[in-house]
Amino acid sequence: MNLRRLCVFCSSSDDLPDPFRAETRALGTRMAAEGIGLVYGGGSVGLMGVLADAVLSAGGKVTGVIPGFLATKELAHEGLTKRIVTRSMHERKREMSRLADAFAILPGGFGTLEEFFEILTWKQLGLHSRPIIVANTGGWFDPLHEHCLRACELGALTRRDIALFSIVNSAPEVVDALLRSRVPPAAPGRLTRT
Ligand code: AMP
Repeated sequence: MNLRRLCVFCSSSDDLPDPFRAETRALGTRMAAEGIGLVYGGGSVGLMGVLADAVLSAGGKVTGVIPGFLATKELAHEGLTKRIVTRSMHERKREMSRLADAFAILPGGFGTLEEFFEILTWKQLGLHSRPIIVANTGGWFDPLHEHCLRACELGALTRRDIALFSIVNSAPEVVDALLRSRVPPAAPGRLTRT
């Protein structure tokens, strides 16, 4: 797998506790060290800003994709390698997806969840086959994972659906999981928790 750019969805909130910020920073540093560029929502707030700053200060490349109307609210980052201004949220997501070789989900709110599920359902529908890795910092996604397992038991999801994404225990491990996924992924139908 040619991993040039990783699209990361994460929180726009500045209120998450320090360990979340530290892990996000570690992911950015690791990405830059491996020559993996960042594609993200273009803001300077929350974990989004922490991640972009970390990649940039470690010498990496960052592309921010932000709708014009959000540039003020999410304080568009002024120091990016490249900024793409879109007309809508839909165009933003389409552009982020077009640029990415893989996707990572870090802790976040409604926006992050929406982005995660959209990219996941696109994969479920066969519209792409790129890796999706969830960083379960501090067990953030445990309740969501439990919910998916329950949905699987009750028949709303299949084990193959759940295997469409992988979970790692911390943000920097996303890079290791992706570098490992250059070899063929686990057989479909197996629950992947790396
Ligand atoms: P949040 O996780 O809510 O802090 O939001 C993280 C990112 O998701 C921010 O850049 C938001 O602009 C974005 N976002 C919020 N709502 C949506 C949505 N409906 N579709 C796509 N992205 C969204």
